Amino acid sequence: MSRTHKVFIKSFGCQMNVYDSHRMADTLAPAGFSETATLADADLVILNTCHIREKAVDKVYSEIGRIRELKEEAAAQGRRMLIAVAGCVAQAEGQEIIRRASAVDLVVGSQNYHRLPGLIARLQAGEQIVDTEFPADDKFDVLAAPLPEAIVKRGISAFVTVQEGCDKFCTFCVVPYTRGAEVSRPVEKIVDEVEHLAAAGVREVTLIGQNVNAYHGLGADGRPATLGRLLRRLAEVPGILRLRYTTSHPRDMDDDLIAAHGDLPALMPYVHLPVQSGADRMLAAMNRKHTRKEYLDVIAALRACRGDLAFTSDFIVGFPGETEADFRDTLTLVDEVGFATAYSFIYSPRPGTPAADMENQVPEAQKSERLQRLQALITRHWRAFNTQSLGRTEDVLLEKPGKLPGQLVGRTPYLQAVQVMAPRSMIGSLVQVTITDIGTNTLFGALAQERRAPIAAAAGA
Ligand code: SAM
Ligand code: SF4
Repeated sequence: MSRTHKVFIKSFGCQMNVYDSHRMADTLAPAGFSETATLADADLVILNTCHIREKAVDKVYSEIGRIRELKEEAAAQGRRMLIAVAGCVAQAEGQEIIRRASAVDLVVGSQNYHRLPGLIARLQAGEQIVDTEFPADDKFDVLAAPLPEAIVKRGISAFVTVQEGCDKFCTFCVVPYTRGAEVSRPVEKIVDEVEHLAAAGVREVTLIGQNVNAYHGLGADGRPATLGRLLRRLAEVPGILRLRYTTSHPRDMDDDLIAAHGDLPALMPYVHLPVQSGADRMLAAMNRKHTRKEYLDVIAALRACRGDLAFTSDFIVGFPGETEADFRDTLTLVDEVGFATAYSFIYSPRPGTPAADMENQVPEAQKSERLQRLQALITRHWRAFNTQSLGRTEDVLLEKPGKLPGQLVGRTPYLQAVQVMAPRSMIGSLVQVTITDIGTNTLFGALAQERRAPIAAAAGA
């Protein structure tokens, strides 16, 4: 290999994988790896995988097949291309990956990727390695901090992992097995990371975790802090204009977090709160540990703190035993809450989870038919939500250049993309934009007035 190596990293699945991919790149940088967007040029290809549904796993294996051909082409030219599989498929399937796909050189689990530089050095000596044991050391203590230029390249909005793993054991879900038990990072380490990002120009931070509102990291006073307390602390970091968090469990939406929505203007009024089903029978079979009414009570408490809150959710259709009446309960819940949008999935049996062994599996055709009906309803709500924006003046955080010359793209508090004519120097500014038109996937607007200038420290902003 040449002195500077090229790494191509592809993320599948959730934002936690996007964050982990960035941290892998940061950790490989001091070892001489720079990121490339061209797969064929890579000396090292990392697939950061998702195990949540069967389709996600199938995608990984078909991607490995495609990369194997490039690896063979590279070898024919006398160049070695290494293939690593990271993330949840690596964690769940370990050695099986190399058995099924012998072109893979390294399988590295979600808690072990801080060891990448050492592992790569061993691969270069010709080993094939599987490293998925949960380690004794904490990867966050070892990972290299991102370089300022890497932060600037990734944009003004960043993810920060604050919590990993899940103790809830919903009967359909692999996460407690692939990501392990809930672990929270200490408050001060998160504050340091957010300050580092803000100093390089980041203006919006989304705190992420498989079960983010179960956060209970050690506070400066030596006691566990809630997510609400962490958010209050982060709202004080100079330069941070917007805070978000995802993904939450309804059971962990405590009073402090609910109150934070009323107290912190920087905390965006847009909450992703997965419910999965509107039927109590299904919620019990899924082991969600809450009823439909308890979910609605949480929504009402949040709305009482901040009237302009909007909600999104996740739904699973065709969970074992779901009847037409249960499914209709899901449809009525969508109407009752009036979600701004939602993700909906066909139930995918995952080996090793209790629901996969339930007898009353729903036929595929019925699952698909229900998914279509649910998605049509969600789309109606999404259109209605976007239509409300027409003529309104919204706070928009300007993020990056748009497609047209002189255009920038920003986001409203509700993560709606907005195209607006504005100079590049305004990237990173929070401005007021009057919404003039609504496209299929974007809003269009005109600058009303600038509200806050970009902060001088913002490198590249
Ligand atoms: N922790 C979050 C929660 O409490 O809902 C969800 C995290 S999970 C990574 C994201 C979404 O994937 C879930 O909300 C669920 O809708 C979906 N999901 C998980 N397992 C699934 C399965 N076996 N089949 C279909 N969808 C699934
Ligand atoms: Fe999976 Fe979320 Fe349930 Fe945990 S709370 S088991 S991550 S769906």
